[in-house]
Amino acid sequence: MAQRFHTCMLCEAVCGLTVDVETRSVRGDPDDPFSRGHICPKAAAIFDVQDDADRIREPQRREGDAFRAISWKAALEQAGARIAEVQRKYGRNAVGVYLGNPSVHSYAALLATPLFNRAMGTRSRFSATSVDQLPAMLASLEMFGHQLLLPIPDVDRTSFFLMLGANPRASNGSLMTAGGISRRLDELRERGGKLVVVDPRRCSTCSSPSSASASGT
Ligand code: SF4
Repeated sequence: MAQRFHTCMLCEAVCGLTVDVETRSVRGDPDDPFSRGHICPKAAAIFDVQDDADRIREPQRREGDAFRAISWKAALEQAGARIAEVQRKYGRNAVGVYLGNPSVHSYAALLATPLFNRAMGTRSRFSATSVDQLPAMLASLEMFGHQLLLPIPDVDRTSFFLMLGANPRASNGSLMTAGGISRRLDELRERGGKLVVVDPRRCSTCSSPSSASASGT
């Protein structure tokens, strides 16, 4: 059977997907009770990324203005030697580590990265989390005692939605695990509810027909 059902692991909205492995197409699953058919460009284009002729499939070493393909063994040895050299010369914090969002959706990466970070011994650690959600996690730590106790708003039933400094129409409702957030906000308006967005600047969620906004710094 060519059609498979998957949960998208590219963000925390966890949309249900149907994947046709013969035609290599990905669509939102209309029967998924949670995301109800929503899909964003990241998931729709996943085969394009995988099949792209320009996709880099092996390590590249920069030589002047050009790049030359090298083996994984050579790449790891050279990277390890250079990282050690920089840390010896400038201190351990001179090397920064960045973890992208998909690394939290992979058991292998989840298990390996704490060991890797410990081995690096650097305080210069960054991730998708430090880019866009640490304030929410700090608020959860202060209010509920743990940074991962992230409350999920009942978007589908509330009649008044107060949103502080969030733009889910851009983030796809990722951290609030609300796939298809634009449709959900439209449904809030249709049932007579109100969305109030408080943000220092006008954002695409503020511009929603269902919203009232307050801005200022
Ligand atoms: S919103 Fe997130 S979970 Fe949904 S399709 Fe896009 S990347 Fe995947």
